[in-house]
Amino acid sequence: MSTKYIFVTGGVTSSLGKGIICASLGRLLVARGLRVTVQKLDPYINVDPGTMNPYEHGEVYVTEDGAETDLDLGHYERFLDIKTSQENNVTTGRIYNNVISKERQGAYQGKTVQVIPHITDEIKSHTLSLGESDDYDVVIVEIGGTVGDIESLPYIEAVRQLRYDVGRQNTLSIHLTLVPYLSAARELKTKPTQHSVKTLSESGLQPDIIVARSEYELDITIREKIAQFCNVEMKDVVASLDAESIYLVPLLMQEEGLDDRVIEKLELEAEEPQLDQWMNFVEAVCNPSCEIEIALVGKYVEHHDAYKSIVEAFIHAGAVNGCSVNIRWIHSDHLTNDNIEEKLDGMAGIIVPPGFGERGIDGKIAAITHARENEIPFFGVCLGMQCAVIEYARNKCGWPTANSTELDEDAEYPVVDLIPDQLNVEEKDGCIRLGLYDCRIVEDSKAYRAYGETQIQERHRHRYEINNNLRYKLVEEGMELTGFNPERDLVEIVELEEHPWFVGVQFHPELCSTVKKPHPLFVDFVQASLEHAEEHGYSKSVNREKAVN
Ligand code: GLN
Repeated sequence: MSTKYIFVTGGVTSSLGKGIICASLGRLLVARGLRVTVQKLDPYINVDPGTMNPYEHGEVYVTEDGAETDLDLGHYERFLDIKTSQENNVTTGRIYNNVISKERQGAYQGKTVQVIPHITDEIKSHTLSLGESDDYDVVIVEIGGTVGDIESLPYIEAVRQLRYDVGRQNTLSIHLTLVPYLSAARELKTKPTQHSVKTLSESGLQPDIIVARSEYELDITIREKIAQFCNVEMKDVVASLDAESIYLVPLLMQEEGLDDRVIEKLELEAEEPQLDQWMNFVEAVCNPSCEIEIALVGKYVEHHDAYKSIVEAFIHAGAVNGCSVNIRWIHSDHLTNDNIEEKLDGMAGIIVPPGFGERGIDGKIAAITHARENEIPFFGVCLGMQCAVIEYARNKCGWPTANSTELDEDAEYPVVDLIPDQLNVEEKDGCIRLGLYDCRIVEDSKAYRAYGETQIQERHRHRYEINNNLRYKLVEEGMELTGFNPERDLVEIVELEEHPWFVGVQFHPELCSTVKKPHPLFVDFVQASLEHAEEHGYSKSVNREKAVN
């Protein structure tokens, strides 16, 4: 069976949830025994989102091979239980970068280098390299942006050509659009969909399936109208209604027959769907027996997408523990010793997430002191762990001026610092530790109890490390170092033994929590938080029966 390609475009507006539709379709195809991956084509000029502000772009998702990518890749990994890599995320910046480098090396032999064919060829080669790797039956390609945008044009043209190159029977075009409800007219409107399909068709790309995002059920007349004016069969109009949880979307898409239509059209050899585990998970997410609140103390809290993988990891871990984790978003800039009791009142646990730069550090450190002294479960991730070390050095080791050199270059006690081989690296990016690294866990530690093993691998994205010259002091004063990178003897995990649950990790466990394998540290942290909440009467029982399916 040759590899099949499914191209997913979006129309009318952004934020329709194309990433979730791609991930959901991927999940349904994986559930039917197919080998699937998803590629995101992003039409912006940044080479990758690594340097983009989280307010602009949300979280930077890091893959095992150390690529800094779009957060949709996180959805693909969580839904499909696959690993993605740099090849799964292509940006216009990367495409142009490659083409210009090739041009400088003389690869185009004196030809005038143009959008068509050189840019489009470069786009096509990235999609084909996944398809031709022999690893997948299906490659789903999500084209970022909205049809009609100037910057999307080379991608649409590349898709048009690809359909010709690999054979129409091996490709499918799915268009996600919006069917808005006009309350004054009390009507769902199909015109925006018609226009969007028209624009797409003008570029030579006719959709085979239309997924219509809508707040209300699409009745026969609406489906008929879309089918007739957009030139698809009625059974190829799939309604995508708002869902209580993104994890319900694969089940809703299955009800609408999306996977059946795709399988039939692409003549895929598929098995009966195996969705039992998924359904149990969704059941647990939608019907928790109780709720707890965990405080997330960060500086991008107005923009929840900046912490996307953490939010999802809590949903996975909550399901395992039979509870729903509600995040209380606390701006670290607004947290002071004076208001901390009130702001963190009733919290089952406290997490200080990753971050860069100085802003809001004092609030984070105050939250950590509060968690440490009041025995509230605490989880520090990357910068959160570095803050826990600074807090401990300041308040327990008698070093009130301890700091990270990221926050104070001349810190008297630089307990978090660049390591010596980074000091001469001129380009800031040159020294960032990115991607998967080994970690050896000390037995008889909280981390060991969570993981149940001593050799693990986790993903990283940071420049600063716990200072090996000063770490003796932390140990002397009772902080336990329980995880190490074996090659370079770098501290990966810190804990407090006397505390019910106080763990800081230098890596990003949130990035590899999936529905199938919720991350053990998140599962354990939520369990400890639940126990804390029950002990203090903070957990609320939930009594709502929602049927799944
Ligand atoms: N800013 C810190 C560093 O560069 C932590 C990074 C992070 O939290 N991802 O080391």
